[in-house]
Amino acid sequence: MLTNDELSKWDRENFFHPSTNLGQFARGEGAQRIIKTAEGVHITDRDGNRLLDGFAGLYCVNVGYGRPEIAEAIAEQARELAYYHSYAGHGSEANITLAKMVMERAPKGMARVYFGLGGSDANETNIKLVWYYNNIRGLPQKKKIISRWRGYHGSGLMTGSLTGLELFHKKFDLPLAQVIHTEAPYYYRRQDGAMTEEQFSAHCAEELEKLIAAEGADTIAAFIGEPVLGTGGIVPPPAGYWDAIQKVLDRHDILLIADEVVTGFGRLGSMFGSDHYGMRPDIITIAKGLTSAYAPLSGSIIGQRVWDVLMQGTDENGVLGHGWTYSAHPIGAAAGIANLQLIDKLGLVQNAGETGGYLNAQMQAALGTHPHVGEIRGEGMLCAVELVRDRDGRQLFDASEGVGGKAVAAMLKRSVIARAMPQGDIIGLAPPLCLTRAEADTIVAATAEAVTEVLGQH
Ligand code: PLP
Repeated sequence: MLTNDELSKWDRENFFHPSTNLGQFARGEGAQRIIKTAEGVHITDRDGNRLLDGFAGLYCVNVGYGRPEIAEAIAEQARELAYYHSYAGHGSEANITLAKMVMERAPKGMARVYFGLGGSDANETNIKLVWYYNNIRGLPQKKKIISRWRGYHGSGLMTGSLTGLELFHKKFDLPLAQVIHTEAPYYYRRQDGAMTEEQFSAHCAEELEKLIAAEGADTIAAFIGEPVLGTGGIVPPPAGYWDAIQKVLDRHDILLIADEVVTGFGRLGSMFGSDHYGMRPDIITIAKGLTSAYAPLSGSIIGQRVWDVLMQGTDENGVLGHGWTYSAHPIGAAAGIANLQLIDKLGLVQNAGETGGYLNAQMQAALGTHPHVGEIRGEGMLCAVELVRDRDGRQLFDASEGVGGKAVAAMLKRSVIARAMPQGDIIGLAPPLCLTRAEADTIVAATAEAVTEVLGQH
């Protein structure tokens, strides 16, 4: 077996890591962690550190690590049929079965599921299909996509444009011209501190209405949003938000794409965020929770009104020119089937609601009155702790102080992984949906101790 030193050196010399400070890593300054094994909610690295993964990888290992049911399903599929493509009507037992299982769980009004590999490519698919849809309807001008500041939809050319975070645009010449952003539904950071949640939702809808008026409704094809803002800070929508937005979209014949890459398959304590908030999407993006990341697989669930036009389009124009070699990969599909079965068998959607609610309540009890905790918010198995300089004045820390990063580092010293969210001093938690109350207590204790270490006592 390789020694740790050898692996470490090879890593620094050969591996181009995503979302990493490249120079620091190459020079041996940036953090490096080589993971060896994982079980339940814990990962263990090559140095023998056993860490409670409070972010489920990248909020994706929803059933927890080391599930033999999924490992065996993958191995069996690899032996029986490792691959065949799904172009031109080809399928396998695994991907056909998974398609049926996804549609059985999907919100009402959905017609078909297209499978890709990850959340980014699924959103690329969605935008292409929306453009095709409006071309077939004879509306070639209706192409712009509205996204929200702080939304996260991937890091491709189009999806990186949809993403409303500066880090993903800066020096990449993004966003592309067809993408425009509207206000983030971030009640805590609202400019007018006197607004109620409902008033703020109405304000967000008005801002959207103004943007549509300025651009022209006949130029706007779709609005994309995560039911709960994820990477942008783990921000549940203010009361009445989706209802207010949906009304504006309906008035202007604008499609709604619900990006449920994080929220799909149970994270909010409901199978889908769209059902949780009464959204009526035309397209739903799924990925992470579909396989709990045991294999790469994503999907675009297409609603009936879009599907009807896509069928009309191929009747008129022939084959739909869209597909990936690995679309609906049988190994990913086998992982997806075993994963969805486990979610049902273990009651993980319910546990996300119950234990996630407990995690949020305990966090509130431990840190809710800390002078540097501005807000503790969450929904289901999502929880965020926003750190501020001044609680009463909602005054933020200067980004250069890196307070969020320091707090997360202090949690790591206590063997708990949280994520320093990329914009703001926000501790993000999104543990596997199988979290127990005892594990939730461990997370809360580590968070409270870390915040006290970095920012002082209550
Ligand atoms: N959409 C949302 C809401 C996400 O959170 C992510 C990833 O975190 C993506 C899309 C992109 O998915 P991927 O990283 O699999 O391309």
